[in-house]
Amino acid sequence: MGARIIDGKAFAAEVRAKVATHVARLKDEHGITPGLAVVLVGEDPASQVYVRSKNKSTVEAGMKSVEHRLDAETPEADLLALVHELNADPTIHGILVQLPLPGHMNEDSVIGAIEPAKDVDGFHISNVGLLGTGQKSMVPCTPLGCLMMLRDQFGSLSGQEAVVIGRSNIVGKPMAQLLLGDSCTVTIAHSRTRDLPDVVRRADIVVAAVGRPEMVKGDWIKPGAAVIDVGINRVPGEGGKTRLVGDVDFAGASAVAGAITPVPGGVGPMTIACLLANTLTACCRSHGLAEPEGLTA
Ligand code: NDP
Repeated sequence: MGARIIDGKAFAAEVRAKVATHVARLKDEHGITPGLAVVLVGEDPASQVYVRSKNKSTVEAGMKSVEHRLDAETPEADLLALVHELNADPTIHGILVQLPLPGHMNEDSVIGAIEPAKDVDGFHISNVGLLGTGQKSMVPCTPLGCLMMLRDQFGSLSGQEAVVIGRSNIVGKPMAQLLLGDSCTVTIAHSRTRDLPDVVRRADIVVAAVGRPEMVKGDWIKPGAAVIDVGINRVPGEGGKTRLVGDVDFAGASAVAGAITPVPGGVGPMTIACLLANTLTACCRSHGLAEPEGLTA
């Protein structure tokens, strides 16, 4: 029997609807509107598309959306001054500085300047430390989206054998921490892992965050496993066009897995939905209000 295809688009729409309902209640009951500020430096075309779509989704969820576009030549000190201004602005609950930044800027310094409670990307070292020690933090959006989909699939994740392929700071490592937080037995694999197919074969949960088109083959997958494909890879398609594929060989893996996310339409749409969820969570925390249920780690 083929795998259940996890519809990330539909799931993300549900998350966004939950956020919008909560936002409406915050406005009605407390007169509070969550606010997200997105800062874009330079003209990177992919970043421009992301930022546009982040702003649109924020407004659709009933939140305040503020966009700051800075010239690629902007001195780092000016960007830091803007971040400090946003840190001090009580109408802004989430700050996202779109990466990558131009070469003359130090990304660590810029991310480090964001007030951790407003760091809706979850990249600030304080949030990394809080997540690593199992404390309340802002969690990076992509792994949070993966966690939500897995909880929906399994209910409790306790005791599941999970293999995360990839150890980046934005996906692999926080994903592993989240799975550990939900009491999975977690293995983190990477480019130096020996016998990767064998490691993956023992997993009830596979999260692939590698950036290599269709690397994970169907015969690596344990029958019935849940496969979350984070990879976004552009490969040559028909008629000189390109098409998107994940890190997993979808045709092969979906014949064996119990559930699998497609690319596109799997993890991707969850990332922005979780950015909205994080902004709402940050807003609730800053006002000492109850956090939205089912939208946090
Ligand atoms: P990175 O390049 O930062 O990390 C890739 C990881 O994969 C590294 O840890 C690397 O190991 C590991 N790796 C590389 N080659 C192999 C191999 N042959 N076998 C096993 N492991 C390997 O990527 P990111 O984590 O930033 O992103 C991963 C993928 O997810 C990309 O395709 C990216 O586009 C996508 N992505 C999707 C998002 C979404 O919203 N859906 C959001 C973020 C990323 P090592 O550390 O040893 O080098």
